[in-house]
Amino acid sequence: MKNVYFFGVGKAEGAAEQKNTLGGKGANLAEMTNLGIPVPPGFTLTTNLCMDYLDHGVYPEGLDNEVQSAVKKIEAIMGQKFGDPDNPLLVSIRSGARQSMPGMMETVLNVGLTKATIPGLIKKTNNPRFVYDAYRRLITMYSDVVMEKSEGIKPVSGEAIREQLEEIMDHMKNDRGVSVDIDLTADDLKQLCEEFKEKVRDTLGSEFPDDPGTQLWGGISAVFKSWAGKRAVSYRRIENIPEDWGTAVNVQTMVFGNMGDNSATGVAFTRNPATGENVFYGEWLINAQGEDVVAGIRTPYPLNSNTKTKDTDQLPALDELMPDVYDQLDAIRTKLENHYRDMQDIEFTIQDGKLWMLQTRVGKRNGAAAIRIACEMQSTDLITVEEAVARVTPDQLDEIMHSMVDPASETGAALLAKGLPAGPGGAIGQIVFTADAAEEWAKNGHDVILVRNETSPEDVHGMHAAKAILTAKGGVTSHAALVARGWGKCCIVGCSALQINISDKKMTVDDKILKEGDWLTLNGSAGKVYTGQLDLIEPDLSTNEHYSKLMEMADQIRKLGIRANAERPEDAMQARDFGAKGIGLCRTEHMFFDPERILAVREMIIAESAERRREVIMKLLPFQRDDFKGILSAMSPHPVTIRLLDPPLHEFITLTDDQKDELATELNISIEKLENRIRDLEELNPMLGHRGCRLGIAYPEITEMQSRAIFEATAELTAADVSVAPEVMIPLVGMYKEYEHQVKIVRRIADEVISETGTSFSYLVGTMIELPRACLTADEIAKHAEFFSFGTNDLTQTTFGFSRDDIGSFLPQYIEGGILDRDPFQSLDQTGVGQLIEMGVKKGRSVRNDLKIGICGEHGGDPDSIEFFNRIGLDYVSCSPFRVPIARLAAAHAQLKTQRQ
Ligand code: PEP
Ligand code: MG
Repeated sequence: MKNVYFFGVGKAEGAAEQKNTLGGKGANLAEMTNLGIPVPPGFTLTTNLCMDYLDHGVYPEGLDNEVQSAVKKIEAIMGQKFGDPDNPLLVSIRSGARQSMPGMMETVLNVGLTKATIPGLIKKTNNPRFVYDAYRRLITMYSDVVMEKSEGIKPVSGEAIREQLEEIMDHMKNDRGVSVDIDLTADDLKQLCEEFKEKVRDTLGSEFPDDPGTQLWGGISAVFKSWAGKRAVSYRRIENIPEDWGTAVNVQTMVFGNMGDNSATGVAFTRNPATGENVFYGEWLINAQGEDVVAGIRTPYPLNSNTKTKDTDQLPALDELMPDVYDQLDAIRTKLENHYRDMQDIEFTIQDGKLWMLQTRVGKRNGAAAIRIACEMQSTDLITVEEAVARVTPDQLDEIMHSMVDPASETGAALLAKGLPAGPGGAIGQIVFTADAAEEWAKNGHDVILVRNETSPEDVHGMHAAKAILTAKGGVTSHAALVARGWGKCCIVGCSALQINISDKKMTVDDKILKEGDWLTLNGSAGKVYTGQLDLIEPDLSTNEHYSKLMEMADQIRKLGIRANAERPEDAMQARDFGAKGIGLCRTEHMFFDPERILAVREMIIAESAERRREVIMKLLPFQRDDFKGILSAMSPHPVTIRLLDPPLHEFITLTDDQKDELATELNISIEKLENRIRDLEELNPMLGHRGCRLGIAYPEITEMQSRAIFEATAELTAADVSVAPEVMIPLVGMYKEYEHQVKIVRRIADEVISETGTSFSYLVGTMIELPRACLTADEIAKHAEFFSFGTNDLTQTTFGFSRDDIGSFLPQYIEGGILDRDPFQSLDQTGVGQLIEMGVKKGRSVRNDLKIGICGEHGGDPDSIEFFNRIGLDYVSCSPFRVPIARLAAAHAQLKTQRQ
């Protein structure tokens, strides 16, 4: 098996498709090399080798030779030799998994610097300061990554080797009276390296290795081992990355951005990752190494003059200081986007005026940017409609539907501080200062904002749990910003006014003191921090042209219809605006709770005779007729599925003492009699009790009243030339005779209304399929019913025998124990409940091949469930109005997947 893949000067053994073997970084270095882009030569050790090494603790025979011959090839290209005293080659060793795991694994730079090679490099560069700076970085990284972490040493807090070395450096800066690293001289750094090595020996009990080969293999093994490190493991859990993928290791010629003022380093996105705007966007620093740009210690410069802001106006842009290099970089930007046909996140270094590309990968972006980039790349024909739709995930779409700080409440609010806008949107939460606290508070139901000086990969669990992230340091490509953007979280970085005191759980901003638990509001789009809780509002999608275009493209692809569950005309209008083409479930019981009619509803329930019940129920008729006129016309000309009364009656008569008094007086009966009647209606298992069509069968006058209201509304609207399409739905049918009983009443009333009004209209009658018996006998039911709508809430409840209202008491144990992967009421159990649905569809269509079938349970808005419903050939899904756009996109994705298969 080939373990080592070489790349250099226009030719690479690997290619972009080999991500599984070479990792994302390695595959793209190979691809860039093949594109003729200047990439420092190097080689990639495969992910298979990583898993093999982690499993067995040794390398396969012959690996040494493979590595040696790759090193020789680099040496030949560079005209340098690894370990050569006169002309030494230095290499970097970096991780690179299939999927980017920012900062979760280790890196060692400047490998190959030893007592023997230092003089040679000084002679070559004529820059002893640079060489000793490189050496102290090597000692720091190597001792931290190879000698401490990879050896499994767990230092007490504050005494990790890296921290101890940083302390020595701080001492020296104090001593010399300088505040930044750059002001330390070559001699200072030389002395520092000696002190570092001593500290390493004293702390870790072994010498920092002075042999290039030992450094190389130490680095490679440590990076492989970092795949199994704590941070990487917890990140993989959150991101669902399989354990057995492994990481590749990239060994690559060092190029230096810190060789003087003709050198620089930077990171950039080929388009703005926060807005999607088609501008080249990034940060860079003169005379620096890559980590300096992201570490947040020096404020990075803007990449180009046209992306300067008020805050960065004074700083130099690359196109101003090094216009030729900028032009080359800009040309590479275009080449990469055209080649990869997606927005790229790149890293570059300029060594003594020469540009080198160190990385390209698909850039992380937030929801707004994802949608804009997909639409704009499609309109310039860089990608197809199908690709554009596939590029946006339901979660990204969800993001742009999220809250932002209400500008009205923001206007008067006193600004606490300002930072860099790193993740847009608004958030409100209580302050916590550690990732653990964030996780703990969130577990207890609090909305929290994680406030840190800067975040590190150790913090990811807390960042995940927090509503938003606020840091005192860092730029828009800092760790906090990248991670937050990947998750679509509101995030502000570089908010330098914060003075954080973690041990006292407080922070000061000017003269204000804020403690753990105090409230903050963040406007992540503007980088503004406020104390207290401002108002949040939903974004206006109607003015977002990219959103509309995405939806149009999704609609071209999808086959599933999308309807909404709604009762109120305003909700129906909202759903319509979001693109629903009909109401899939109007729960009439929700209309009964209106204060004007609840008394009549209660009178109806309490009534002891059918005559009295009919009399009272007719009081509800005008209300219901208006309800139905409202919703039918709001959705005109699309269909509206109106479900007859469904819930257990006692839900309406759970009363306070005052309500009992009021009702008894109205009904002119004693409290005692009222209480007796209420007791009569009590059930031990109301969810399995007197509800659904059982109500209409026991009290046919309810079905009569509701049908009359529906048809009178239909007749009135039809006469007024409003085109409407009512569908009457019978709930909780388990036997076709139940359905037969109810449909007779519905049709009789329809005939009566047609003859009374002289207006003819069409309508459908159908049923919910929400009991296992209904699925098993769907062929019998379909002989009578004109449509089916799967009620997956009740179907899940009755298939599992889990109470839909009480599952919370044991679900956490089921999830933690691995008995269930997820809540089956949120995402459909395709194996069990799904089998019943498939059977229902098959049997139903076996007797009525044009049977219209939808689903109106909560699963109608869940992307995974939507994929299933599409696969088994449903006509539509119905979900809450705010899920409609997500359902449209998910339905398109489902169709694309079916086509691929
Ligand atoms: C269902 O059971 O899935 C359904 C849509 O009806 P309800 O939630 O009103 O019981
Ligand atoms: Mg139901």
